[in-house]
Amino acid sequence: MIYDVKNETLPREDMERLQLGRLQALCERVYANVPFYKKKFDEKGVKPQDIKSLKDITLLPFTVKQDLRDQYPFGLFAVPKDQIVRIHSSSGTTGTATVVGYTKRDIENWGELMARSLAAAGASAADTVHNAYGYGLFTGGLGAHYGAEALGATVVPISGGATKRQVTLLRDFAPDVICCTPSYALFLAETGLEMGIDVRDLPLRIGVFGAEPWTNEMRQDIEKKLGITAIDVYGLSEVMGPGVAIECHEAQDGLHIQEDHFLAETIDPATGEPVGPGEEGELVFTTLTKEGIPLIRYRTRDLTTLNTVPCKCGRTTTRMKRVTGRSDDMLIIRGVNVFPSQIESILIETKGLTPHYQLIVEREGNLDTLEVQVEVTESMFSDEIKSLQREESKVMKNIKEFLGVTAKVKLVEPKSIERSMGKAKRIIDNRKKD
Ligand SMILES: [Zn+2]
Repeated sequence: MIYDVKNETLPREDMERLQLGRLQALCERVYANVPFYKKKFDEKGVKPQDIKSLKDITLLPFTVKQDLRDQYPFGLFAVPKDQIVRIHSSSGTTGTATVVGYTKRDIENWGELMARSLAAAGASAADTVHNAYGYGLFTGGLGAHYGAEALGATVVPISGGATKRQVTLLRDFAPDVICCTPSYALFLAETGLEMGIDVRDLPLRIGVFGAEPWTNEMRQDIEKKLGITAIDVYGLSEVMGPGVAIECHEAQDGLHIQEDHFLAETIDPATGEPVGPGEEGELVFTTLTKEGIPLIRYRTRDLTTLNTVPCKCGRTTTRMKRVTGRSDDMLIIRGVNVFPSQIESILIETKGLTPHYQLIVEREGNLDTLEVQVEVTESMFSDEIKSLQREESKVMKNIKEFLGVTAKVKLVEPKSIERSMGKAKRIIDNRKKD
């Protein structure tokens, strides 16, 4: 079902006309109300009235995460504080937290966009949504919650953690939809089996997963282990939260960007120049309607490719390829670029291994070393040591062959890698400690 037929199926020219009008109004707004942007515009010698076509967006300055940190907490807000009705904030685990504020209309728009997203995933007003995203300052929990309510569905606001209780409620409340991180979905299925509850036997039919990058192989694994359709949702708190883009269940082929609210570009991360159509680049968003904290050309650090071909689901919005790497997550091991997602693909394709893994990077002398720790399945673990060693060298060989990097592979006991209730911690980089 398409939730907002008018806006999700606009012909390209109509969409571009709508975007241009909103972009022009946005530039006027931030220039007048946000001293940070007035200064940035002036430094670049650009005035709001210079934006005469969508292509003119390249005249505008970029915004990066550090700008939000520098303006901590409220320096980028574009409305007086009395119009802000809610604050969210990033955890700040890698530096000063970033803070975002929402007006009443921002919250309404977010609910509508997340309702669109749940509908695209295949959910309807008749469904019950088990929402295991964390509630609180993190945008996942309340974002999905308001969307499910706007859709008219029944929400179970369980939040993260208390995993056994989650499994019990999956059985007792029989939800149709679950929202959480993909790694937590696998943990729930695993915990269920320990409790004698096979999630595959429950009515659950859709999972809406996000907040951490994941691969197609992991999708297949989740679909098999939970007996559901696994849908990728994309968002980031700086731009809004979950619901910026969503896969449709009909195609599962790229995420539809809510383009009437977010103008997407892809750029070369090194030069900042736009990349050609169909080429991979860093995803950049301009928020067209946000009032509380509108952002101009926000660099997400996520790498993707944009596709403007209309989809078989009937939506005409531009699709972004699923994000499997964030330019921040990229590891450079002895000069070779490695994304955790590439290693994950190799692990999942190897029989007897699970998607629970961790990458440990050290520096010995001047040389970087990479160790891949991955859990084996129970049956594999009970095998003799020789066959474990054989698997280890097979994975090492595949990593060397496909990624061009030498890694030490260590197969570890089932359930020995710490489970996360939110985003899985995939990388331990000990090089940064000194
Ligand atoms: Zn579609």
